[in-house]
Amino acid sequence: MPHRRSLSQAPRRYSHARISRAVYALPNVFSLAGKKAFVTGGGSGIGAAIADLYARAGARVFVADVDDDAAAAMVARIRGNQGSAEAVVIDVRDESSCAAAAAAAHVADGGVDILVNNAGIGHVGTVMTTSGDDLDRLYAVNVRGVFNVTRAFLPRMLERRSGVIVNMASIGGLVGIRDRIAYCVSKFAVVGLTKSMALDHARDGIRVNCICPGRVETPFVSARLKEYPDPEKAYRDMTAAQPVGRMGRPEEVAAAALYLASDEAEFVTGSALSVDGGWSAY
Ligand code: NAD
Repeated sequence: MPHRRSLSQAPRRYSHARISRAVYALPNVFSLAGKKAFVTGGGSGIGAAIADLYARAGARVFVADVDDDAAAAMVARIRGNQGSAEAVVIDVRDESSCAAAAAAAHVADGGVDILVNNAGIGHVGTVMTTSGDDLDRLYAVNVRGVFNVTRAFLPRMLERRSGVIVNMASIGGLVGIRDRIAYCVSKFAVVGLTKSMALDHARDGIRVNCICPGRVETPFVSARLKEYPDPEKAYRDMTAAQPVGRMGRPEEVAAAALYLASDEAEFVTGSALSVDGGWSAY
């Protein structure tokens, strides 16, 4: 049998070119080739950036949104870049809508590997300026929505003993934020849902994580700014809250969502990943 030199016995002097080709060649990391992903709120902002990046990483993406025009426009953009995508109309508040969307995705493709619970809404208000209806409205989308969609997709993932769930929480799920009482209540709940589901299904081949973005420039933030008497001052204040001195970009959150969905994150479950320009370090 020919003698094979182990790595520790190898001569110390390598040519740099040989090392970089033979030893340091990167495998295809963060690839989603052959995977199917379902992204709620995929028609706008962070969800659209995730749908776009997942498609570029090789996934077939279901762009799911209550706004069917926005979902269709995103699908057209992905297909225009040679990606694979389907639009799905969903209202995450409604269990039967979630069940129908999951059935459509399963019939079309046999199963979804990655679920991104990203759809969410916001509200500006203290406990005195937030009504019970405001609280219920945010809860219905941000918390019950994550619950409804997950219940629609998890059974098939459990059958296959494989699946990744990425929930979109917020910096407002880790620390309190002034004037965001209903939003923080809902996002703390998303972090709790994430950690509890991760524990419940850690031995079932299912990983559940969430992302906690700081402020990211999307239509969501523009809508919040309009709720202030002086939107320009509010913009400056929102930017200043982040130690890096700027808002994030949707693509920067999408990169975290790609990592969490990828096989490179196989040991990661139950985490709340901050993507916040340093805000949570306060
Ligand atoms: P966005 O408003 O740009 O997009 C949200 C999308 O969700 C829209 O396409 C909307 O149609 C969809 N949606 C709303 N209600 C829905 C429902 N009932 N059913 C299905 N789809 C629905 O917002 P964004 O900034 O991209 O935010 C996405 C997620 O990121 C939200 O969960 C939000 O709370 C979270 N987040 C945003 C920021 C930020 O600064 N932008 C920061 C932290 C967390």
